[in-house]
Amino acid sequence: MDGLRACVHCGICLPQCPTYRVLGEEMDSPRGRVYLMRAAAEDRIGLTPTMARHLDLCLGCRACETACPSGVPFGQLLEATRAQFERRGVTAPTRDSATLRFILETFPHPGRLGPMLHALRMYQWTGVQAVVRGLGLLSPFKKLQTMEALLPTVPLPGAALPELIPARGPRRGRAGLLLGCAQRFFYPDVNADTARLLSAAGYEVVVPRGQECCGALHLHAGRLDEFRAMARRLMPAFADVDVVVVNAAGCGSAMKEYSHWLPDDTARVFSERVQDVSEVLAGCDLPLRARPETVTYHDACHLAHGQKIRAQPRELLRRIPGLTLVDLPDSDLCCGSAGVYNLLEPGMAGQLGRQKVARIRETGARVVTAGNPGCLMQIRQHCRETGLDVEVVHPVTLLARALEGR
Ligand code: SF4
Ligand code: SF4
Repeated sequence: MDGLRACVHCGICLPQCPTYRVLGEEMDSPRGRVYLMRAAAEDRIGLTPTMARHLDLCLGCRACETACPSGVPFGQLLEATRAQFERRGVTAPTRDSATLRFILETFPHPGRLGPMLHALRMYQWTGVQAVVRGLGLLSPFKKLQTMEALLPTVPLPGAALPELIPARGPRRGRAGLLLGCAQRFFYPDVNADTARLLSAAGYEVVVPRGQECCGALHLHAGRLDEFRAMARRLMPAFADVDVVVVNAAGCGSAMKEYSHWLPDDTARVFSERVQDVSEVLAGCDLPLRARPETVTYHDACHLAHGQKIRAQPRELLRRIPGLTLVDLPDSDLCCGSAGVYNLLEPGMAGQLGRQKVARIRETGARVVTAGNPGCLMQIRQHCRETGLDVEVVHPVTLLARALEGR
């Protein structure tokens, strides 16, 4: 309740809010949403489907937190309020509950996601995807079409990373690598590159077998009981490392907040050890060779706003000799990915995706980087659909390509 009362209705957050910028509606702004959440907490209004709709439209991007001079912890308030809606079973009539259920029962479970992606890989590699897209066969099925459009090329499952990768050079410590649910299947090279960079920086890298989902999707959906259970299952996998390294902004942000949602010493100690890969590498020397190219950087919301990490990825990219890093206007405005928001709210997500690509086009960069798999998929999709020919990659991909001795 203190967080809700901290809002002084100044409106400074409004221009930073993507949904307010698009809709111009007070109740789809941070100030309006805080007003609704406070009124509900004080029993002045009930938890209604209309209020649920305003919260569903919120991306949870937390740009309002960055802007707010009063320190309103918007992300935590949103998640706590969504949990109340979940408990009471109140949803907006527009809520696509079937898609959300499918996502929560599939994406965080590697044993289910893997076989599904195998079928999708066949769909792509046999040329069926090209025919389906060319003929617009999915256009009568809007939701399916949205999900299909987002699908990146599903790579062949690479060899599993070794459970232990030794440090090269003077040893700095022992780093545990989170594989992530989307990252391990859609971007396994990002995990391999992260491990290689950490090893080159002097870390012995541990890749715990059987590590499960961090629970971020459940947290954002207000499924707090399931989120807490997932967090409790994940933490022991990283019991014997100095630092838990994460290369997916959404996962890292959630794992740093375990200490808020599970107020005990185990969670506090765990959260204190979680770091984004850019935080870890920024403190290390890396032997990098020249790669002349023009690159721009998109701030993933859960890095810039959720973890306050902006400087480290940029500083690392600037260390690559010959690389020119150009500013991306509105770099920290959400691209519309927001976890699985783009699957649930394709209209708003599409507008934000197209806006992001327009800003990227202005930079003239040939390469776009972002530290979150969801952003990579969303930006790639909208670049493809608007005919912008750029490479969209994680910053560690560029660093690993520049790593000497590769
Ligand atoms: S989290 Fe993002 S979308 Fe939601 S109110 Fe804040 S700025 Fe707006
Ligand atoms: S900036 Fe903070 S205090 Fe001002 S209206 Fe927004 S949430 Fe409230």
